[in-house]
Amino acid sequence: MLDALVIGSGPNGLVAANVLARAGMSVRVLEQNTAIGGAVRSRELTLPGFVHDVGAAFFPFATSSPAMRSLDLGGVGLEWCKAEVESAHPALDGSCASIVRNLDELDRSFAGDGPEWRKVAAWVGKERDKLLALLLAPPVPLGAAWQFGAMNLLRLAEIGLSSGRGWSERHFKSEAARRVVPGLALHTDIGPDDELGAAVGFMLAALASCDGFAVPRGGTSSITNALVRRLEQQGGTVVSGCSVDEILVRRGRAYGVRTTEGDIEAGVVVADVAAPTLYLNMLPEADLPSSVIASMRRFHHGFGTFKVDFALDGPVPWSHEDCARAAVVHAGESNADLARFVREVRAGELPEQPYLVLGQQSLIDDSRAPPGKHTLWCYSRVPSQRPWANERELFADRIEARIEGLAPGFKRRVLARHITAPPDLARTNPNLIGGDLGGGSAQIGQQLFFRPMFPYFRYRTPIAGLYLGSSYSHPGAGVHGMCGFNAAHAVLADRS
Ligand SMILES: Cc1cc2nc3c(=O)[nH]c(=O)nc-3n(C[C@H](O)[C@H](O)[C@H](O)COP(=O)(O)OP(=O)(O)OC[C@H]3O[C@@H](n4cnc5c(N)ncnc54)[C@H](O)[C@@H]3O)c2cc1C
Repeated sequence: MLDALVIGSGPNGLVAANVLARAGMSVRVLEQNTAIGGAVRSRELTLPGFVHDVGAAFFPFATSSPAMRSLDLGGVGLEWCKAEVESAHPALDGSCASIVRNLDELDRSFAGDGPEWRKVAAWVGKERDKLLALLLAPPVPLGAAWQFGAMNLLRLAEIGLSSGRGWSERHFKSEAARRVVPGLALHTDIGPDDELGAAVGFMLAALASCDGFAVPRGGTSSITNALVRRLEQQGGTVVSGCSVDEILVRRGRAYGVRTTEGDIEAGVVVADVAAPTLYLNMLPEADLPSSVIASMRRFHHGFGTFKVDFALDGPVPWSHEDCARAAVVHAGESNADLARFVREVRAGELPEQPYLVLGQQSLIDDSRAPPGKHTLWCYSRVPSQRPWANERELFADRIEARIEGLAPGFKRRVLARHITAPPDLARTNPNLIGGDLGGGSAQIGQQLFFRPMFPYFRYRTPIAGLYLGSSYSHPGAGVHGMCGFNAAHAVLADRS
């Protein structure tokens, strides 16, 4: 019998498997897809020679999180590429605020608010490791809070208690600088005016300025391949095309899984799966407290994701020069524009002027496209439920029009485009329910002790020997591997 089974080969599953294998346990990862890696994969989606990231593309966390650092993925061939500008936030009026790692460049790049952002960025740079230890450890990290110190905690509270717009208006004078943190928060489902909403956008901005929005050479699959290589070095294995339908439970304890290939027994099971799916579809209801079933039925998913990948005849002809050097560009005119966009998505409407996150991997990694050609990775947030069969081309056209506004001549450079609507995301990866890329809403009501639900927020479940290690657990979405890392450490703590 195996010591451990991990369901799902996303970054959290693979990190969990690595930690358990490193501790000497026999581990097997079971993946329902024929491709390994969950939302961390790359493929030729458009034309031969153009490598596109099917999900995640930029990795401020993957280079900084304790989980990833502990695995030394550089030692198994993973290489990072970084841009000169991390995140550019242009508007049609020609203004742009950009995050750069070189703090001396901020006076030029941060739309007149460079000195203020430099203070914030310098503080985060100095306290980065302690801050990450605090935010990424299992709740409640009292030791990490102590190490972080009272003054730093107060400073963090000023951010955490603000909305994105409120925090930005207190700190910056220009509209361009004020749209940066709220623009980043919309990587999740947090709007500029959401209570206690500043933290997510702030964290992404802070990491961009310390670690950068790095991209892995060769495509995002390079991260997955490195995680698998490390796992195999430690004796672990990954089986693809094997879907787990059910957790086998005897007298309140998990003893294995039922798969499309038959039953497999193991001492413990770590699930890199969606929390509602685990509790509502994969476990016998009779083995669970009714409160667990009730809270999973009330679970809030984040916005849907609508993605377009482009093969281009040349780089995007941006009007603002920072964008031409940026790893990531965000389209969103102002906080009013972002707030309007959020209202439309929440009302279930298809936004006329979509907010966009645009990734330019091929600018910094020449292995992504043939010589002289480029890729563009792009997503917007959308309602999950729309008549997508009728609307996908229309919405992709709106996305192209928005890019064209910021980069006249863009459309002429498009050689091919590949659309991924919410149902397409969910079909290939069952964790992306309704196209939600975040493992559930990132609103405060579903964070910390409430992720995915109270009191099961520390990776253990009501079933002994069964652990939840996906992004549906704390600290949530992002390729940091910390959900799997923390879950695996819970396994090891329970064995000792
Ligand atoms: C379009 C998109 C863009 C993103 N951009 C970024 C970004 O730029 N930077 C960033 O840091 N993060 C980004 N993210 C988020 C990031 O990819 C996720 O937070 C991360 O992949 C979560 O990892 P995970 O291991 O929890 O789950 P996943 O990566 O979703 O992997 C889960 C795996 O489990 C498998 N699985 C599920 N159920 C079963 C079952 N019953 N049996 C067997 N296998 C099963 C799935 O097939 C899947 O392979 C993005 C995500 C998407 C979708």
